[in-house]
Parts: sequence; structure tokens; C-alpha cells
Amino acid sequence: MNEHDSELIRQKLINQGYIETNSEKHAEIILINTCSVRKKAEEKAIQYSRQMKNKNKTVVMLGCLAQHKGQELLSISKADIVIGTRSYEKIIDILLDFEKKGTKRAICEDLGIFQLKRRKVREGEFSSYVNIQQGCDNFCTFCVVPYTRGRETSRNAYDILEEVIELEEQGIIEITLLGQNVDSYFDGKYDFSDLLKLLEDNTKYIKRIKFTSPNPRDMTMKVIKTISNSEKLVRWIHLPLQAGSNKILRKMNRGYTKEEYIYQALTIRDLIKDVSITTDIIVGFPYETEEDFYETLDVVKNVKYDGAYMFKYSKREGTPASLFKEQVDEETKGRRLRELIENVNNYIMERRKLMLNREYEVLIEGESKKDIGYSVGKTFNNISVVVKGFFKPGTIVKGIVKEIRGHTPVLNIA
Ligand code: SF4
Repeated sequence: MNEHDSELIRQKLINQGYIETNSEKHAEIILINTCSVRKKAEEKAIQYSRQMKNKNKTVVMLGCLAQHKGQELLSISKADIVIGTRSYEKIIDILLDFEKKGTKRAICEDLGIFQLKRRKVREGEFSSYVNIQQGCDNFCTFCVVPYTRGRETSRNAYDILEEVIELEEQGIIEITLLGQNVDSYFDGKYDFSDLLKLLEDNTKYIKRIKFTSPNPRDMTMKVIKTISNSEKLVRWIHLPLQAGSNKILRKMNRGYTKEEYIYQALTIRDLIKDVSITTDIIVGFPYETEEDFYETLDVVKNVKYDGAYMFKYSKREGTPASLFKEQVDEETKGRRLRELIENVNNYIMERRKLMLNREYEVLIEGESKKDIGYSVGKTFNNISVVVKGFFKPGTIVKGIVKEIRGHTPVLNIA
């Protein structure tokens, strides 16, 4: 979401006549789009802002940290301007005002969402994010999003369709729908499944539609069936688990049990042919015992993920979990994380091997940085593969997986 916001802000500044430079040395204004999900990301952003101020740059802090801290961030980061997640529409006025008067200010007003939606596709771009929803009402006890992105709001389905049509007319063939909790999307008429169908039926050139992220508590059979019957909806579901123990899930306020989660994941595997399921897992959440941790490993064993983001619990200021008494020590968190990664990786390998000698269509994303002479792309179930040779980004190639390198399948084109 930040990546997408940055692109929209970038275009707004360029339209106003600002010139973009990749050289930190030559830039007069530095914009830092911050993330609050982990403490380290916040610390890095603040440190970078101070460094830039020492070099006499004008510094603008954006994103979740800006929204969360507001005025306070001006002094902590020494930034000149702080703009919250729902005030981006005002960025030009604020910059011009700062250039004239030099007054430092923080603005975290709610000007409504999706203000910066129209954009021009860059040359060669074939994939784009599209905002469908912002904010979250779930209040998981470890998460800052409801405090930084506000209450959940869904964008009008026809407004989304209009943007997608504009994008495909400019050459976009893949879209990723963005929201904090996409499967609770509801614009008053269309639910998430209706929206997916609307986009599938009314686009001409879009070949792949992805979305991120759903919450297992809101995932419906209707959405699962819509994906299974679709030719454009990518066969990939990111289903954040967070923890496997019912005790920890309750303390996290996740709204589902371990059993419900496993049932849902296995239903997805049953109904959507060749689906890949990825997840997010936190280890060392307050009160997590060894037994609780083994419940998480048990879910991993049942679901056999195709990929996972795994983290040690990080205390986020202002969240209920940061006040929980029984915090887990760092050493235990580290050990559990290593064990979890090992388990998940074994199953990823098992799943990748199933791809051997099978045919896949791959959407090329660019040159592989790791494998020289290879291109990198994604299958229709969102698995990254490499293909020998160079292909233009946005091309779709077909071939057979003949080898698995690390976790990466290698596609041979006949
Ligand atoms: S559903 Fe996701 S974004 Fe919403 S509070 Fe929970 S973790 Fe945060």
C-alpha cells in the first residue's frame, strides 16, 4: 500500500513541475513514506530523516508513522513536514506553503480516501496496484493499522472498475487489488466476490487479477468459488495465520480458531485447482508457551504453505498487546522463529517438487538479479520462477518446470 501511495504522490509532484532525482545528493526535498508495522522500520525512518536534516534537506514524513505520531514526529525526526495517510491530497499546498514561510507543520486530517487515484502508467509498466479499501476495524491486539489507517472504508465498485479500465487502456495486464481486509469489502451494493466478478466480466485486456490481503475471519465460500471458476483471478490466496494456538488467537483478537482456519485452508485447496496458499506468522506473542508454539507448527504441517512471512513479535506502542504482562524473551522468540522457518521451508520444498514436469504459463516481470541470463516471472498461482533468456516484462511464456533451484522452479521453454 505504501509503495502504491508513493507512486501516486510521485505523479502528483511531477504533474506540479517537481523534478524527480534518484540522487540523494542533488535532491532538495526528501520524502520518506514510513511503515509502522515493525519497530525497526520506524527507527530507520526517523534516523534517515535526521541524517537528511543534517544535510540541510527539506524532509517530508508520510505514511503510518506520520499518521500515528503527528506533531510529535516533527521533533523526534526533525522533519519539516509530517503528512498523515489520509491527507496526501494537500501535499502540494503544504510544500508551497513551507517554501514561502518555512513553517514546520504536521497535518493528519481525514480528507477522505482514494483522493490520489488516477495515474499515468509508466512506459513498459504492465502491472498496477489499485486501492479498493482502506483502514481496518478488526483491532487485532498486536496491530497498529486501525490507529494509522483509520476505520475501514470501501471504495465504490464502479469507481474501481473505471480506474481499472483506464489502466488496461494504457497497457496494464495485471492488477493487484489493495486493502487491509479485502474480503470484508462492501460498498453498499457490491461485496468482494461481486467486485471480483465485475472486474473480471468488464475488462478486455486484463489477464490477471490478484488481491491482498484477506482476513480468514471474513473469507467466504462465495469468494472461493468465484476464484475457482475464474480465468483471470490468480490462484493464490494469502491467508494470514498469525498463530496456531486458540489461546493465542483469542488474545490476538483474530476472530477464528485453529480448526476453522485449517478447514478453510483445506477447502481452498480442494476447490481451487493448483492454488497456492501463503501466510504471515508471528512467533513469541505474549503468553505463547512451547505448547502454543507447537500448535502453530501443527497448522503448518496441515496446510503446507507455498510461502510465508515469519516474524518475531514486535511490541507496537499504543496497541493492547504491548501492555500484556507475559512478554516472551528475545532468545525464545529467536529459537522459535528458526524452528518455524525450517518447518515452513521443508513444506515449501515439498510443494515446489509437485511442479516438476508440469506445464505453466509465466508472466515475465524482468531480468533475474540472482540468476544471470535468466528472466523472472510468476505462474498463474503466483509462484516465482526463472526462465532462461531475456523476455520483455509483461510477456507471457509457456514451458515445463524441469528443475527446482533452492525454492525457485526453472521453466524450460520447448
Ligand atoms: S486484520 Fe490485519 S490490518 Fe486489521 S487489525 Fe488485524 S492485522 Fe491489523
